[in-house]
Amino acid sequence: MKNFIFQTVPVLHFGEGCLAELPGQIAALRASRPMIVTDKGIVNAGLIVPVEKTLSEAGFDVAIFDSVIADPPEAIVLQAIAAAKAAGADIVIGLGGGSSLDTAKVVAALAVDGAQPLADIYGIGLLERKGLPTILIPTTSGTGSEVTAISILTTGETTKAGIISPHLVADVALLDPALTLGLPANVTAATGIDAMVHAIESYTSRNGKNPVSDMLAIEALKLLTSHIETACSDGSNMVAREAMLRGSMLAGQAFANSPVGAIHALAYPLGGIYHIPHGLSNALVMPYVMQFNLEAAAPLYAELADALDLPRGSENSSEARAQQLIDFLEGLAVKVKAPRKLREIGIAKDATIELAEAAMLQTRLLDNNPREVTLADAQRIYDAAW
Ligand SMILES: [Zn+2]
Repeated sequence: MKNFIFQTVPVLHFGEGCLAELPGQIAALRASRPMIVTDKGIVNAGLIVPVEKTLSEAGFDVAIFDSVIADPPEAIVLQAIAAAKAAGADIVIGLGGGSSLDTAKVVAALAVDGAQPLADIYGIGLLERKGLPTILIPTTSGTGSEVTAISILTTGETTKAGIISPHLVADVALLDPALTLGLPANVTAATGIDAMVHAIESYTSRNGKNPVSDMLAIEALKLLTSHIETACSDGSNMVAREAMLRGSMLAGQAFANSPVGAIHALAYPLGGIYHIPHGLSNALVMPYVMQFNLEAAAPLYAELADALDLPRGSENSSEARAQQLIDFLEGLAVKVKAPRKLREIGIAKDATIELAEAAMLQTRLLDNNPREVTLADAQRIYDAAW
């Protein structure tokens, strides 16, 4: 066995009703002036109400920044940092999907005196020190952002760039499945497939794959694949919601250590250029990247097919078994009514060149992929997905 390193959030609170632990966790971090970082969708859906209520009943004077938008641009992050400083916040509470949580992590890192400029911290390990304490509360299942050391922001017009640092890891992740009950079926489907992709890409990563991340990825994939249909068709089913949230958290812990590859690299341009939500972007390119990866990743895909106990066909090769995994996942995506083709979401046929060129900029992710991806490969994959 190769030596390995595994890191995760030091404190996890998980389960229905665990939102009640929030005041105690803030106090344990010796903070008294929380700022919630969230988006208007969370406010309009009423999801901020129980959080605010829990905090105000515990005597906290809460500041709120609710202007996060999807694919968070730098300008919004800078506004949030200024708001946190103006409010005298001494702890940041991220509430929402990946965009809000990713923003909250960067705000916490930089809303302190003497912080580095935002432009200096893109990349791996360039953030020099920890900022304010952070508690992250996901409302989707999900990006897994609550347990990762990664924030993805949009720089310039369309490019997505990552900040990766152990200093971005939250102090506490608080996962209450009750907060996910109201997620619409299409969001449940897309974010659930994204979480599956985290598990699959972590399991096949060329960098950082280790026995702990593998164990987490397998358990995540089992939970997510066996509950996504119910979570989509019966959103108030707490058993399914709990399993999806647990699965996305485990997948997050896996890929935080054994990072994602070409499915994400090819998904990002769909978000950056067309503002397709992250989960849907991943769902759209997943089967085609997996098909492309087959020649390098078939044995690992076959292991996942075995772990899921998929019914065996007549042929027993690892390629055949791997193909069963791809077909099974595609079947699930169809069952939960995720759009399956780029043309269904309004992307023009001739856009695949621009998309492929943008995907090639995601060198950090492509380097994790089990098979090398060239520009021509990327365009062929987009063409297949079109
Ligand atoms: Zn993702």
